[in-house]
Amino acid sequence: MSKYLPKQADLIKEFEEKPSPLKGDYADREWWEMPYEFREGNFCFPAKPEVIEELGFPNPRKWAVTDDDWKLPDGWQKTLMDGMRERIKKYRSLKLYLDSCVRCGACADKCHFFLGTGDPKNMPVLRAELVRSVYRGDFPMVEKILKGFAGSRKLTTEVLKEWFMYFYQCTECRRCSVFCPMGIDTAEITIMVREILQLIGLNNNWILAPVANCNRTGNHLGIEPHTFVQNIESLVDDIEELTGVTVNPTFNRKGAEILFITPSGDVFGDPGVYTMMGYLLLFEHIGLDYTISTYASEGGNFGFFTSNDMMKKLNAKMYHEAERLGVKWILGGECGHMWRVVHQYMSTMNGPADFLQEPVSPVTGTKFANAKVTKMVHIAEFTADLIHHNKLKLDPKRNDHLRTTFHDSCNVARGMGMFEEPRYILNKVCNSFHEMPENTIREQTFCCGSGSGINAEENMAMRMKGGFPRANAVRHVREKHKVDSLVTICAIDRASLPPLMRYWNPGVSVYGLHELVGNALVMEGEKKRTEDLRENPMTGIEEKEGDVD
Ligand code: SF4
Ligand code: SF4
Repeated sequence: MSKYLPKQADLIKEFEEKPSPLKGDYADREWWEMPYEFREGNFCFPAKPEVIEELGFPNPRKWAVTDDDWKLPDGWQKTLMDGMRERIKKYRSLKLYLDSCVRCGACADKCHFFLGTGDPKNMPVLRAELVRSVYRGDFPMVEKILKGFAGSRKLTTEVLKEWFMYFYQCTECRRCSVFCPMGIDTAEITIMVREILQLIGLNNNWILAPVANCNRTGNHLGIEPHTFVQNIESLVDDIEELTGVTVNPTFNRKGAEILFITPSGDVFGDPGVYTMMGYLLLFEHIGLDYTISTYASEGGNFGFFTSNDMMKKLNAKMYHEAERLGVKWILGGECGHMWRVVHQYMSTMNGPADFLQEPVSPVTGTKFANAKVTKMVHIAEFTADLIHHNKLKLDPKRNDHLRTTFHDSCNVARGMGMFEEPRYILNKVCNSFHEMPENTIREQTFCCGSGSGINAEENMAMRMKGGFPRANAVRHVREKHKVDSLVTICAIDRASLPPLMRYWNPGVSVYGLHELVGNALVMEGEKKRTEDLRENPMTGIEEKEGDVD
């Protein structure tokens, strides 16, 4: 067990005893007077100097968040203020988000970090105010217009430390934006602040190390191409042993119709590997002409949590590989931030990808018109279309040992509006699916509490707090419907939700959607299936004496 994981009783006691506006405290204090503290378990470690050097980022050095002296470069205030001015000029949306808050408070209790910590500076309105207060001081005209919203501040070391704390306690999930009458997207403010903090060497190792790995080898874990292939081949062996079916993925094959890209967590991490096995079974089932690149071997994009330039660079490999291999279009696996980047930025950042074709399913003939520009189709849309056209032989009874609920990943749900396809699939591949409460799903989904690169072990206490609203909704369906399986379509969720469930809802396991598809698929030439892809027994189809494979 992680030494950063607090005892549940201690965490609850702390929440109950700590003053919070949730309980009506602080009524007589200004927001900027409210204390904050870096404590073990509530921050991520800074990036190591060698990682920063490898990326060519500024101010590589050894430092600790709990140090008084963060070893900032000379003139750091000017660097940050120049960085802020430049971005406010460049991004009209950012200027609007900073200027147009009317302090209505509608967002205040919508953030999972505020609900989980009770810390007022985790209210989206105050999180943004950390920056607005400095922005106001820097732009006298703005201060004049916003007269009455007191509190313009100078950029001091204390203010800087607050920025570092609270903009790494925002998972850029955008839940607050759903409730804002002005359409303010606090996540965009967080993205900008994190980017300018990079300018003086303030960052976190859990983000920058994967970025450096991805930059060097194409995936977050820094796995070389031959190891990448070996891992998938070992999954091929596992599938054969379990099902008797040989699946045949190919690598870097020129002229394949489709390039398949998924997060590397699906190739190396548990439980992501079972999702990968599901994809491989699906592609074999329909005879898909696809290939996997050992260079574009990562769908996820931690550049997104670093800077626009880095996001663009890491994303570019997808189109480069598609062009090099001469495929027609790209199919993307289950991932959150990969899809936020693909859906919202890829075509303008690295497109137009005119060398690719408008995606058409080779099995059903469906034109994916929504992917006309990006040329990249989400696996959930692809599979839902196959099921809709009766192209898959499915036996949902094979998932009868699971009682499921579905977690909408923030980036896929709010970032690209995909709500129905995963539910449609889930309802076809299993018989027991129960929704969490309405205000915690679809557009209003609660974040896992560990997205946007704060999934570090040393941040465990904060993750358990931020993930509490999600866990609480799962607890509701566990108690009401005996749910024991939390299904998701995001690789970060597959990494972050298992410890969250162990902490708040022991007995609930986390699954990728296509793992359940893989369980349910009736494959040609298969042997009798009595175990799921995790080798857990399926209910009601136990091996009987005399059964032959
Ligand atoms: S984007 Fe998400 S994490 Fe950030 S302030 Fe809004 S609700 Fe909180
Ligand atoms: S809901 Fe929007 S306008 Fe209202 S306080 Fe929050 S950010 Fe400001």
